Amino acid sequence: MTLHNEYTKFAACSCGRTHTLPDFQTVLGNQGLEAVPQYLKTHAVQRPLLVADPNTWAVLGEEVHRLLDDMGIAHDALVFEDTEPAADEDHLGQLMQGCLHRPDCLVSVASGTITDLVRYAAYLMTVPHVAVATAPSMDGYASSVAPLISKGHKITYLAKAPELIVGIPAILAAAPKKMIAAGFGDLMGKITAKADWLLSHYLHGEAHCAEIQALVDAAVADTIKLLEQTEDNDAEADQELLVTKIMEGLIHSGAAITLMGFSRPASGAEHHFSHYWEMQALRDGHTPELHGLKVGYATWIVLQIYEWIRQRRSEGQLSAPEAAAFDQATGFLPAAAAYAEMAHKAHVVLNPEGLGMDERQVRQAVREALYVRDRYTVLRLAESHNWLDALADEVNVRWLPEQTCTA
Ligand SMILES: [Zn+2]
Ligand SMILES: [Zn+2]
Repeated sequence: MTLHNEYTKFAACSCGRTHTLPDFQTVLGNQGLEAVPQYLKTHAVQRPLLVADPNTWAVLGEEVHRLLDDMGIAHDALVFEDTEPAADEDHLGQLMQGCLHRPDCLVSVASGTITDLVRYAAYLMTVPHVAVATAPSMDGYASSVAPLISKGHKITYLAKAPELIVGIPAILAAAPKKMIAAGFGDLMGKITAKADWLLSHYLHGEAHCAEIQALVDAAVADTIKLLEQTEDNDAEADQELLVTKIMEGLIHSGAAITLMGFSRPASGAEHHFSHYWEMQALRDGHTPELHGLKVGYATWIVLQIYEWIRQRRSEGQLSAPEAAAFDQATGFLPAAAAYAEMAHKAHVVLNPEGLGMDERQVRQAVREALYVRDRYTVLRLAESHNWLDALADEVNVRWLPEQTCTA
């Protein structure tokens, strides 16, 4: 399946705004790899550099390398030594040192971290970037920024989305379950991101675009519908459909950010939780857990916060404008319990321990995650009523599947 640039309809958007159109092409299909040499030939690329780590090289990198050899396309390859390279100065340096032959195109064969690094390097070097995805683990493939670690801090740098994104369903479906769960979790974060965006829109007049919202909404809804139809033990073909849908949704989320010009359509309080925990892990010298897994978990926490406030709203504790905005912004939200059940089915971890944290860190994040970004979310609404302490004490941090028999 080839998704041509389907974002052109946003050129004349009903919201009256001029959106920046994403200009990447996406190829999702089991024959998708052929798009790589095709792209290189069409664009007269002379000497691309393949970038991978030992795992992704084994999964797909070597195959790309052979394919280019067969097609007579001269190229170099940089395979990082570590299996989990960080997107930090060290690896950016290694990448630059690998550019000995002045590549005129960078081809990442990887999931999150390396794609982030290469997206940034390609932007700096003003060469095109072809991203071959090895796992549907995050929404950064189509992103126009790159989150990198600088002096131990995560900083978002300007970058450029790849010119071509390739996903092979059979490969994506064979990725570790945890990485697929992370991609699913990152996509589900758009549910609470939407409520936060609408809340800010109705309460503070922040710019909103219903058409971009609809693009993200459809990606989330389609994925949930497919998840509900797919069982863990289903045939490969069904699993491939599901990961393709997740990947497509993540790419649309990235496109939505480019269209809107800022990350609102894809990121709200659930992402602030994730950033908060990530900063903590970096500070303490731990390897942070996959971004999307934390987002998928935080989405459940934020849904609980919305429910808690809905209760106060029914008791008349919100001001009239707040209550009106709250009703308009949150009517679509699923119940936190229903979300947990669905997320659990997709292997999203719903307890702090499974994410390498403890309960205290979760409750602390309820109090403090709002300070991570200067952006209005449900956390700011709670803070303005001095509710964060109570929320921190009362949210359920550990979800247990319903027991079929009780002792
Ligand atoms: Zn619009
Ligand atoms: Zn995300």
